[in-house]
Amino acid sequence: MQITGELLIGGRAKRGEGVAFRAIDAANNEPIEQPVFHGALDRDVEAACDLADEAFDIYRTLPAAKRAQFLDDCAARIEALGDPLVERAMAETGLPRARLEGERTRTASQLRMFASLVRSGDSLDVRIEPALPERQPPRTDLRFWRIGVGPVAVFGASNFPLAFSVAGGDTASALAAGCPVVVKAHPAHPGTSELVGRAIQQAVAAAGLPEGVFSLLFDAGHDVGSALVRHPAIRAVGFTGSRAGGLALMKLAAARAEPIPVYAEMSSVNPNLLLPGALAARGETLAREFAASATLGCGQFCTNPGLMLGVAGEAFDAFAANAAREFSAAAAGVMLTPGILRAYELGIDRLTRHPKVTTLARGAAAPGRAQAALLRVSAGDLLADAALGEEVFGPSSVLVECANESELRAVLRKIEGQLTITLHAQAEDADLVRTLLPLIERKAGRVLANGFPTGVEVCDAMVHGGPFPATSDGRSTSVGTAAIERFLRPVCYQNLADAWLPEALREANPLHVRRRYAGKAEGQQ
Ligand code: NAP
Repeated sequence: MQITGELLIGGRAKRGEGVAFRAIDAANNEPIEQPVFHGALDRDVEAACDLADEAFDIYRTLPAAKRAQFLDDCAARIEALGDPLVERAMAETGLPRARLEGERTRTASQLRMFASLVRSGDSLDVRIEPALPERQPPRTDLRFWRIGVGPVAVFGASNFPLAFSVAGGDTASALAAGCPVVVKAHPAHPGTSELVGRAIQQAVAAAGLPEGVFSLLFDAGHDVGSALVRHPAIRAVGFTGSRAGGLALMKLAAARAEPIPVYAEMSSVNPNLLLPGALAARGETLAREFAASATLGCGQFCTNPGLMLGVAGEAFDAFAANAAREFSAAAAGVMLTPGILRAYELGIDRLTRHPKVTTLARGAAAPGRAQAALLRVSAGDLLADAALGEEVFGPSSVLVECANESELRAVLRKIEGQLTITLHAQAEDADLVRTLLPLIERKAGRVLANGFPTGVEVCDAMVHGGPFPATSDGRSTSVGTAAIERFLRPVCYQNLADAWLPEALREANPLHVRRRYAGKAEGQQ
């Protein structure tokens, strides 16, 4: 499939008339010659959103099997893009082949996971309270389910060019919910975005769906993204990126005549608690695994272990020394974009110049590459200056030395919301674990024991969310089947004749969906 640099507006491909830009080869920061991408203009945003609005009622009322088949077909078409997709993504992002092949598998399997959720009918959450004419006062028939919120704007993430971009988790969950999607491509991987966008565009046509189910827009700046969030047809936003970007979109969405939710995944330092038993029993292994996790993929994961907390003492000092040795050996890494490298260098510079921060180790240095960094602060200084614990996106981490367990608790109480918090603990740490868990639950979307948080399983039980600023809305997840909830809203039908009801709500349950009936899960005694 050829990359042309065109916008995909419904079923059309159209050369944009906005500002022209080229993709950048992440390995050498040189422009990739072909093609030239042209940004969209306001009228393109209008056209994509109007088509999405027109498509919504037809798309959301399709039989579940048809919507599921479309999602399966998107997965198959993305896989069929083959090596050219992986090679283009490697050039645009600097990520290695194995990582991108894995990401492609994840992208296809999450589309298939949502297809199977749609087939099951579980996300409709059907609840029926039949009429009680004898009751005083009598009750009429009440039936509840959930429908899509309407067209969704999705912002592709720079650090997951496949799994959190054009056909990533936000798009898959919105399409599964019955919502058309307009994607604002991330300018760091426009060619990858176009290839995947064309695969979805073809799947829309092959399924005979209304063309507005999917559109893809380019822009090298913020105008298109802002116009999308402001467009009245857009009913929700999915975003992964910086806190500044997420906050800007939340502000725009809240200022609309009709405000809409923005599900932004923004920043997290993913604290790891090194409890005394674990440090004593396996401090050296922990240090090695921690360094590998923090420098994996040049640290460009939102679940990177960015804050390591432990109680002062010999075991903590030994952990610091072992981790420093590992960080010193870390190779200099290619970052996704020159902007992300610049932000990393500025963040590390700010920390290393801070009088209260000790630099324990720097990795190998190379021009245009990120140099790993391991830093150390005392919990007292972190408590006095929260900026010492802010996310620096890249291969870095801060060790926090707590004077005692109560200072460890004080830090936990003070830190912001997180995607993950990890406990490294042995059986002898059980009492401490029990006292820490209530605090941890208040701060994190995912609580781990004895592992590192970088890997995120895509499944029913995953939460990739967390209180602000990890996400804009801690009631949500952007990974796993529960991600669909962000794009659904409940509707109740009161006293409608059976024949007027959607099939999923009819008395005889012709679609065999799981439902709560008269206050009980059906089939339950
Ligand atoms: P970003 O700057 O937040 O950009 C993400 C997307 O949102 C891009 O398409 C961007 O468009 C758009 N955008 C940003 N600000 C906007 C605004 N005010 N109005 C409209 N659209 C806006 O993120 P990034 O480019 O991926 O990386 C920058 C920094 O984000 C990193 O250094 C890192 O700190 C953070 N980041 C965090 C995570 C995480 O998971 N926590 C993931 C990726 C990045 P433009 O590119 O055209 O500006």
